[in-house]
Amino acid sequence: MARYIGPVCKLCRREGMKLYLKGERCYSDKCAVSRRPFPPGQHGQARVKLSEYGLRLREKQKVRRIYGILERQFAKCFTTAASSKGSTGENMLSLLERRLDNVVYRMGFASTRAEGRQIVRHNHVLVNGKRLNIPSYVVRVGDKIEIKESSRKIPAIQAAVAAADRRPIVSWIEVDRSNFTGALKSLPLREELNEPSIREQYVVEYYSR
Ligand code: SF4
Repeated sequence: MARYIGPVCKLCRREGMKLYLKGERCYSDKCAVSRRPFPPGQHGQARVKLSEYGLRLREKQKVRRIYGILERQFAKCFTTAASSKGSTGENMLSLLERRLDNVVYRMGFASTRAEGRQIVRHNHVLVNGKRLNIPSYVVRVGDKIEIKESSRKIPAIQAAVAAADRRPIVSWIEVDRSNFTGALKSLPLREELNEPSIREQYVVEYYSR
């Protein structure tokens, strides 16, 4: 699957908030959202009032950018969420949170979701003892995630683990960073997904036009 490879701070500036796409830099005063708190481009500082449609479009783009996936895969995820029981918005967030690249990031083995994706693609991750290199794999409750023994000394993984305590811990994930292992304890809880703030109802309304 393709991925976005352009400048990422522009994406945060467009959404008007930190999306935490650059690891440690996002927590420093070099963050572009703090330094230039207006949208990118020649007319970035012009005052624009968003339409009802514009609001929903921006929310959809924001969620897509947080999880680092492109439109086709995101729309597919939404269709799966809509055809499952329960709230479509919450189902969608649960599917996105359980992506293998996101789980690796949440466990602290990567400093961003993009890095999580790379670690998975480069065969550094084992799921239930077997190599799995598909970032969109949806982790199930009870799955055991592990960084391959020969990959544990990789500087990027070591640095992510050392800095992981700065990031919020989520209750549905159990992790033992000293042994580079973790597991999904339960399904993600909606109330723990509020940073950056997400209004999933807008995404549902965007696709229900
Ligand atoms: Fe760039 Fe991170 Fe700041 Fe976003 S939050 S603007 S990715 S430094």
